[in-house]
Amino acid sequence: MTAMGSSRYDPDRAELAELLGGEPAYRIEQLWDGLYRQGRPLEDVTGLPAALRDRLAESLPTALGAAAEQRADDGATTKWLWRLRDGAAVETVLMHYDDRTTVCVSTQAGCAMACRFCATGQAGFERHLSVGEIVEQVVRARWASGERRVSNVVFMGMGEPLANFDATWGAVRRLHDDLGIGARHLTVSTVGIVPGIRRLTAGGLPVGLAVSLHAADDELRNELVPINRRYPLADLLDACDEHRSRTGRRVTFEWALIDGVNDRFADAERLAVITRHRGAHVNLIPLNPTPGYPVVGSSRNRVHAFRDRLADAGVAVTIRDTRGRDIDAACGQLRAGVEVQIRRPD
Ligand code: SF4
Repeated sequence: MTAMGSSRYDPDRAELAELLGGEPAYRIEQLWDGLYRQGRPLEDVTGLPAALRDRLAESLPTALGAAAEQRADDGATTKWLWRLRDGAAVETVLMHYDDRTTVCVSTQAGCAMACRFCATGQAGFERHLSVGEIVEQVVRARWASGERRVSNVVFMGMGEPLANFDATWGAVRRLHDDLGIGARHLTVSTVGIVPGIRRLTAGGLPVGLAVSLHAADDELRNELVPINRRYPLADLLDACDEHRSRTGRRVTFEWALIDGVNDRFADAERLAVITRHRGAHVNLIPLNPTPGYPVVGSSRNRVHAFRDRLADAGVAVTIRDTRGRDIDAACGQLRAGVEVQIRRPD
């Protein structure tokens, strides 16, 4: 046996069967069942003979080494910083709610999108994750989740999922087909890669789409989210409309409220115009307080006033439950901590 893939969750069934070589054909079902349906560490797949397990463990190493683990919200939130086998680092967050358990996964180490308010973006791109490295984050969170079944997965961690489309889609399929997580419980977040949204829509699974909007006019969005210069709002909204009409899923628009930049009455008005007739959902995100960070999140009063303005205009709007605030686990879009200046265009 030779080692293959960067994670034991990379090989597909045919590749695993090849790896098993002369073993009886039913071993592949046992192995697949142990890895995915039971979702157990290989060492615990006791249906396989011990000697075979040892050989497989050597050929199919795990990709994620825990570099740090933090808990918050009285144990309801766990965040891991994983060290990958080449030294790259990514994060995963497990969140228990009353009615669901959600895992937030990373799809890239670093990110090339350079959003102005995000430390991940400011630090630059390192590499794409593989299908297995994404799936393994869910499996590892599932091990830690104990009795609570992981019901939802959101692709909102480090990186831009649709800039790593093939691995993101491969992971969506694996989670759906083999881990049994329904498409309606999977959500892919994007900052607005229009061709990626169209491919996601064409995939044929009604996966949720969350768009990090943050501005409702091109001028400000160009400033906050540079990819907007390539895929301006009109094109982005067109792709969102197609997603809604082909999947039946209403699109969620994420909006991080930055004091004096995008939290004014006029911003709420513009956002209402965009979202109301689309039946979209708006998720307002209070920015994490980060010492020494020059971008100031809107005050609680402004957040509530913005929410009320949208609600009065007939928009479905919520304020995000910023889980793990005390461990900086606000899921991806808001990894603050570097010095950047944001100004509203004059
Ligand atoms: S907000 Fe998301 S897409 Fe933008 S730079 Fe950060 S991780 Fe990348």
